[in-house]
Amino acid sequence: MEDSNKQNTSLITQQKGELLSKQSIVSRSVVKNLIRAAIEGMEKAYTPYSQFQVGAALLTKEQKIYTGCNIENAAYTPTNCAERTAFFKAISEGERNFAAIAVVGGKNGVLTDYTPPCGVCRQVMREFVDPRRFLVIVAKSEEDYLLYFLEELLPLGFGPEHL
Ligand SMILES: [Zn+2]
Repeated sequence: MEDSNKQNTSLITQQKGELLSKQSIVSRSVVKNLIRAAIEGMEKAYTPYSQFQVGAALLTKEQKIYTGCNIENAAYTPTNCAERTAFFKAISEGERNFAAIAVVGGKNGVLTDYTPPCGVCRQVMREFVDPRRFLVIVAKSEEDYLLYFLEELLPLGFGPEHL
């Protein structure tokens, strides 16, 4: 019992530390730039079926930004999300070190609510980042956003180190 209590305490401390460190991973101005880039990415969305447009902007540790949009398909299942488009663009260019991703979305490109990444995209992110350090910025505007570590959005995720 004592041991599990200690574990719980350390977990809370760790979580507090993580919350504090979110601000140190990306500055407010970098967050704003990323959200702006995600909105620009969204404008390229190919969504003739749902009209739900999503944009993402992926930041490398070298401060390079890769944007992405959702790309729908008449057969539906080949549809690709904005987050995966951004990741696959970056990976295919040789990038492997990522700091954060911003995601925006809305019907006809109008940002009325937060658009969190789907489970598939969270798993794709998990492959390439440290879930305890990689930040997911879910935004409604440049001023209105939520910050999460990937680990918060995909607890106990299955990653390359498990194989
Ligand atoms: Zn997705």
